[in-house]
Amino acid sequence: MKQNKLVILIGSPGSGKGAQALLLAEKKKMDRLEASKLLEKKFLKTGEDEVVEIDGKEYSLKEQERRWREGFLCEDEFVAHTIKKSLEKEAKEGFSTILLDGYPRSEKQATLAMSFLLSIYKPSDILVIYLKVSKEEALRRNTRRRVCSLMRHSIIDLPETKNLTVCPIDGSSLEKRTMDEPKKIKLRIRKFKEKTVPAIDHLSSQKIKVSHVDGMGSISDVFFRVLKEVEDFGL
Ligand SMILES: [Zn+2]
Repeated sequence: MKQNKLVILIGSPGSGKGAQALLLAEKKKMDRLEASKLLEKKFLKTGEDEVVEIDGKEYSLKEQERRWREGFLCEDEFVAHTIKKSLEKEAKEGFSTILLDGYPRSEKQATLAMSFLLSIYKPSDILVIYLKVSKEEALRRNTRRRVCSLMRHSIIDLPETKNLTVCPIDGSSLEKRTMDEPKKIKLRIRKFKEKTVPAIDHLSSQKIKVSHVDGMGSISDVFFRVLKEVEDFGL
């Protein structure tokens, strides 16, 4: 029988993770689970007083949604529970390779993730791809980032996107994002270093293979590097 496999994609700010996730899922027929989208979907279906019980503690969905809408992180246990349920559902439906995008983001999340990931996967069936760009490049790409007016598709500044005037996917006009002020980007870069890099270290300490991929260069250059890693992994 074919084994379920899991690829976890983690990218530093400005690494172009979104574009790489799209390409990888399409090229390798993977089911992409985007942590933020899973939470959003859960909140959309939520009834007024719905409560989730996790390890004897109750979590109000409304309260988690409020945190999420106001830009705070949902509680780690709640996020872990949401991801776990989705992965279990996918695993039950039969063979599939999952691309998990944007989780875990902190050491605590990584610890929680390991406790349920290893009930679904063998360590050797999990690959972490860590997309990296330098701080200077992250700053440069993000300060010039644009989003499309229709779907908020994010267009980072790369040689091949520089001259775009409309969204390559839906043709709507492009505008600058207010959250991309240099001060805020620097904060996101610092938070990634302080919070998410230890999460990657934790996964690595648990015998999970972590591939460091250079995110500098064009989207296709980076994608060839990503592809090499997943193909070496047997996908
Ligand atoms: Zn668009």
